[in-house]
Amino acid sequence: MIWRDYRSDALIRQAATTVCTLLVVLCNCLALPETLSAQTSVRPSSSEETAPPLYEFTFLDEQKQEQTLKGALIVEARDGGVVMQTRDGRLLTATPEQLKAKRRLEEPFTPLGKAELTEQLTREFGPGFEVTQTKHFTICSQAGKRYSQWCGYLFERLYKVLHNYWDSKELPLHEPEVPLIAVIFKDRAAFEAYASQILGEGAAGTHGFYSIQSNRMVLYDLTAAPGERPAFTDADIIRKLRKSPFNIATVIHECTHQIAFNVGLHTRFADNPLWLTEGMATYFETPDLGNKTGWRTVGRPNPWRIRQFVDYARSRRKADSLQTLIASDQRFQDAETVLDTYAEAWAFSYFLIKTHRKQYEEYLRLIAARKPLIWATPEERLQVFQSVFGDDLDRLNQEFLNYMRQISR
Ligand SMILES: [Zn+2]
Repeated sequence: MIWRDYRSDALIRQAATTVCTLLVVLCNCLALPETLSAQTSVRPSSSEETAPPLYEFTFLDEQKQEQTLKGALIVEARDGGVVMQTRDGRLLTATPEQLKAKRRLEEPFTPLGKAELTEQLTREFGPGFEVTQTKHFTICSQAGKRYSQWCGYLFERLYKVLHNYWDSKELPLHEPEVPLIAVIFKDRAAFEAYASQILGEGAAGTHGFYSIQSNRMVLYDLTAAPGERPAFTDADIIRKLRKSPFNIATVIHECTHQIAFNVGLHTRFADNPLWLTEGMATYFETPDLGNKTGWRTVGRPNPWRIRQFVDYARSRRKADSLQTLIASDQRFQDAETVLDTYAEAWAFSYFLIKTHRKQYEEYLRLIAARKPLIWATPEERLQVFQSVFGDDLDRLNQEFLNYMRQISR
């Protein structure tokens, strides 16, 4: 049965707007000066044998201040412009005019160690922030030890779930090559003050974001409500979070992006079709907080997205919807179509993972192997997709709609 619930719709809209804001950040962060073109690429690795060399770069930043830092050379353009990766995982660009010096050092690139990273974050965020390390994550938090620990536990569980779900001989995942950093503000107001510097007006409807450029998640304490006492225990945290399942879904959505971009499912500097990266994040975004492992339900339909998709398919979906979804990110960037597009990205990813998993994995591998900063045209995107899933998109579309009809009954 299909039904509309206005409260849910408003919440879905809120959740989707959040993600939409994130996308703008991703695109803007990687927008390079037109003079830059990718020529070579180096992928930093934690393995000694394949680790790229360390460089020292001196360049003028956006405020025209001279900076010197050490990092990996990700791309060197023909005109001399560079994309650098810092030892804490940020991607920075310098045009030939900005770059003053580039010196190759006699040692390999290594990510910042725990102590150095803690020191750097403490300096950056100042007093009131505490750094907690888990196996894979570094959490710089203003929200107190207990909430940080709870988040660390949640992130690690998601990491394990994602890893177990995808890692295979055909799709081998690797350990993160740079730190996975989460910055957690004490409440919404503190988050918004920081986020608005990055997202502008978009920060208002946002509960968290992941930036491909900085490789960081930025979040806030979801249990902190004005006039309410803080959560004292884990059970207290869960009780408070259950009141806002869409907000916690955002946290998991962003964390899925961060993990996927760091273990080899996606590549941070390459052309990633948004339906693929958003489909991945929405596939995992629904946790089961009543369950100890948190994700007993991986592989069950996402209730918010399916409702939106059914409504879309029934009344607004055009015959070429699949083509436009695969070929371009345009529909994600239009406020009129963004909700439907998220729903379709979830639905199509869900359908492919459930019924064409081998091909889906092959496609993921192909996209993750794309060269950095080479943006595909719509024709190229379609071509790559069809090279894996076949030329007959009409047939695939029919199969997709039939499948969605079945699972939404
Ligand atoms: Zn997203």
